[in-house]
Amino acid sequence: MNTVTKKILLPTSTAGSLPKPSWLAEPETLWSPWKLQDKTLTEGKHDALCVSLQEQQQAGIDIVSDGEQTRQHFVTTFIEHLNGVDFEKRQTVRIRDRYDASVPTVVGPVSRQKSVFVDDAKFLRQQTKQPIKWALPGPMTMIDTLYDDHYKSREKLAWEFAKILNQEAKELEAAGVDIIQFDEPAFNVFFDEVNEWGVATLERAIEGLKCETAVHICYGYGIKANTDWKKTLGSEWRQYEEAFPKLQKSNIDIISLECHNSHVPMDLLELIRGKKVMVGAIDVATDTIETPEDVANTLRKALQFVDADKLYPCTNCGMAPLSRPVARAKLQALGAGADIVRRELLNSDKLV
Ligand code: ZN
Repeated sequence: MNTVTKKILLPTSTAGSLPKPSWLAEPETLWSPWKLQDKTLTEGKHDALCVSLQEQQQAGIDIVSDGEQTRQHFVTTFIEHLNGVDFEKRQTVRIRDRYDASVPTVVGPVSRQKSVFVDDAKFLRQQTKQPIKWALPGPMTMIDTLYDDHYKSREKLAWEFAKILNQEAKELEAAGVDIIQFDEPAFNVFFDEVNEWGVATLERAIEGLKCETAVHICYGYGIKANTDWKKTLGSEWRQYEEAFPKLQKSNIDIISLECHNSHVPMDLLELIRGKKVMVGAIDVATDTIETPEDVANTLRKALQFVDADKLYPCTNCGMAPLSRPVARAKLQALGAGADIVRRELLNSDKLV
């Protein structure tokens, strides 16, 4: 199963998004509208993807991504390409049980007429021989970013989205993507649904894939609604405890988590023993740049619960709303921090 990443010790990656250049979209904001149009926009997106790739390479990131330069938002850009969803008909709904957002409406059966990201993935594949990771929204997070006026059942709609995601994932795999990641921040909120059908729909989305698969579960971008919510969670964040047992038994290969500066007790990692873990060692909710030693400390703590060959240093979440210099410096810290721990491991007996 494990392919290109097997020779790299502590392969680094980002959770997904990186800031966009200011000539492409308004900086430091989510859902930022494009500044270009038509052909120029397509060209601009690809140029931004190349810049983002170069920044990752400069920082020594091992598993690279498109930095989500070709999408406006990690959920809605995918949904925009589907039939059955009306973007003109908007409703304000409470998403992640946390904040109100104006979202599109499901008005009929949902389907995917053609691929959404495959051309972009092919373009990224042409630019590098490094392992590449591509992020898609997970079924539960998709239904939580919509108003459903057709299925009237979160579960039914999630199964439909899972089928669509599986079609897209198979084409991404064929385009040469090494790891397909599903973003499921909703897994940290709707615990009963996660256990009743959330993990099952996610497994439907990865059915038949031969490439590696990951699920990213986090406490969200560093926006105010999220930082306010975090203040209510107390001194120990045990949300992961709810989904981990089921995920441990699932076919998902990698679990991507928020760790650094979070109040997530590291020993919760015991619950996903045997899985590869993308450990968030960069906080995206602050402009303070981690030192390489901060990153190394988080990784050392994780190594108490995760075998060295299963530990993947990562960022806590997407960096889209950060400024570019801050994001760049944080990436550098991630690469340098992973290097410190790599050297320690190679000089110790932990790798035998
Ligand atoms: Zn995230």
